[in-house]
Amino acid sequence: MTDADRTAQPGTVYLVGAGPGDPDLLTVRARRLIDSADVVMHDSLVHDEVISSCPADATLVDVGKRPGPNGERTTQEEIHDLLVENASDGQRVVRLKCGDPTVFARGGEEAEHLAAAGVDFEIVPGVTSAIAAPAVAGIPVTHRDHASMLTVVTGHEDPTKEESAIDWDALAAIADAGGTLAILMGVGRLPDNTAALEASGLDPDTPVAMVERATYHDEQVVTGTLETIVDRAECVDISPPAVTLVGEVVEVRDAVDSCLASLSSQLSSGSQHSRAEGD
Ligand code: SAH
Repeated sequence: MTDADRTAQPGTVYLVGAGPGDPDLLTVRARRLIDSADVVMHDSLVHDEVISSCPADATLVDVGKRPGPNGERTTQEEIHDLLVENASDGQRVVRLKCGDPTVFARGGEEAEHLAAAGVDFEIVPGVTSAIAAPAVAGIPVTHRDHASMLTVVTGHEDPTKEESAIDWDALAAIADAGGTLAILMGVGRLPDNTAALEASGLDPDTPVAMVERATYHDEQVVTGTLETIVDRAECVDISPPAVTLVGEVVEVRDAVDSCLASLSSQLSSGSQHSRAEGD
């Protein structure tokens, strides 16, 4: 592959993972594609420094689903149409998503839509927060002595919903068998989700951690148990985005924390690094 082949090609859409936040966690491929893009369509969770590092002549489109300053939202259908329109105009399009583009990021839907429209595209994996957020906090999602399984699950769904796609009994059984749960989008429903796991028989003393804004200068980590985590998270005001980890691996943090140099404080020297801890 020549260097020219490694850059974004006209008429092609790249579904690119931007990593959990810190721009240093972009892949080399992501960096090359961003640097050669004509259009960058990004989500709201992509770090500001990644956005500001896009080429000055690239068109930036914020398609974040959160309400913008005027309350507008870009619908998924509009995103599909924009991707196809821009690629059909011969643009080099980078569709930039936080973490990995296929983990709770609708990359699969966008890929299906592009394929149906006959648009060339590539999926460029990114560093997912499901693994990176615990990792930077000293929590390995698997460990020879503690966990041989990892389950990544959305915590956004209402556990009392009749037709739930999430089987809390199965998740409790996995955690009980020594598997790690990584719950994304789970801040708002933390009380419901921990209650659902307890009701499904998971030991209330099971270790739990939450890592908020991993790799940002204001990253926060709070640890506790299934029983205590709701109060502890409330005490330090854990807010989205955060990843919740359930399982024995959380205890590894205690052993490594004193020597753990923080990525966020290294990279944001001068800005305040706050951490909230529970034992
Ligand atoms: N595609 C993304 C996930 C998008 S869903 C990925 O692979 O990481 C959005 C959720 O990701 C958030 O609610 C939060 O649970 C998690 N998340 C993303 N960035 C994060 C970060 N820097 N720190 C903690 N959690 C993060």
